[in-house]
Amino acid sequence: MTAVPVAIGRRAEPVGDLAASGPLVDTFGRVHRDLRISLTDRCSLRCTYCMPEQGNEWLAKTSILTLDEIDRVARIAAAAGITTFRLTGGEPLLRTDIVDVVRRLARIEGPDGPVQIAMTTNGIRLRESLPGLIDAGLSRLNISIDTLRRDRFRDLTRRDRLDDVLDGIAAAAESGLSPLKLNAVAMRDVNDDELVDLVEFAVGHGAQLRFIEQMPLDAGHTWSRERMVTREEILAALSVRWELTPVPGRGGAPAETWLLDGGPARVGVIASVTAPFCGACDRLRLTADGQLRNCLFSTTEFDLLPILRGDSDDLDRDLDAMLRGCILRKLPGHAIDDPSFLQPARGMNAIGG
Ligand code: SAM
Ligand code: SF4
Repeated sequence: MTAVPVAIGRRAEPVGDLAASGPLVDTFGRVHRDLRISLTDRCSLRCTYCMPEQGNEWLAKTSILTLDEIDRVARIAAAAGITTFRLTGGEPLLRTDIVDVVRRLARIEGPDGPVQIAMTTNGIRLRESLPGLIDAGLSRLNISIDTLRRDRFRDLTRRDRLDDVLDGIAAAAESGLSPLKLNAVAMRDVNDDELVDLVEFAVGHGAQLRFIEQMPLDAGHTWSRERMVTREEILAALSVRWELTPVPGRGGAPAETWLLDGGPARVGVIASVTAPFCGACDRLRLTADGQLRNCLFSTTEFDLLPILRGDSDDLDRDLDAMLRGCILRKLPGHAIDDPSFLQPARGMNAIGG
């Protein structure tokens, strides 16, 4: 064990004794295996629960990590036990070098062999990029779709692009990439009468629908608990149509899953607010501008840019120390229900969902 200085924001300060090797274990014994890498804060949509309609403060283009920088951080993370990289954003398909990102990361060996490369996307432009992404080594895909109705989609995302998203989902289904998951944020008086339709749509595409409870991560800070559709409400709505059988063995996965009428089709619910799963969390995040975050809701970030672009005499050692320092400072949970809860300054598009 060695005391290693790590930079928090732009400052460097000691964080105490750090395990200098081995897996990324926090002070609550949680082993971290999953690194979410945000590739950009830009997006082709403007979902109301994520971004403001106008006036978003974009990250400076010069601060966005290059392919080489992402690859460098990812290699150190894999050496420290990370087995899955999930590419997200903003919209990851807006990165012009997206296929190269996947190809470079897919070559990395983790503790159990080659790492898994997953992606969360809004599906726009997916058809044209999918063959290249699969050839490059993409292993899993989540596509977000909150409504099947064109007028609602336009209101919710502030863009008239439902047909493009549906085409992306069709392309993913045809590709045979498995498992294919579709994400939907459940919202009161917006899409809460479409929950069954969305599940049927997913099943028809050989995909699993996963409903997400809306979280206080919108750039406009308009979230309210009363307006959120809860896990219980989602399950009650689905139970009218299907018999739901819980699937055991969730592990660190954010979604609880149920078989629909005995299976094999399934549905998932990510109940981050009403049934938090922080106790089994194995995730950490890298923002597009090089900030490590140990939680979606964290208000502290660990800035890798001074290391990546500074004059470190041992880049790999310093990146490894930052990863370990970030994990060591992870809190037991997000405490949304605590009166002292503070919504992070960044919106979801700039954190990486
Ligand atoms: N643009 C891509 C997409 O929409 O799939 C990737 C980034 S997006 C931030 C990742 C996921 O976060 C999406 O499934 C989106 O629905 C979800 N998300 C965004 N803001 C959210 C919020 N306030 N509460 C719950 N989920 C949210
Ligand atoms: Fe874009 Fe995804 Fe945020 Fe919607 S949820 S605005 S698609 S980043």
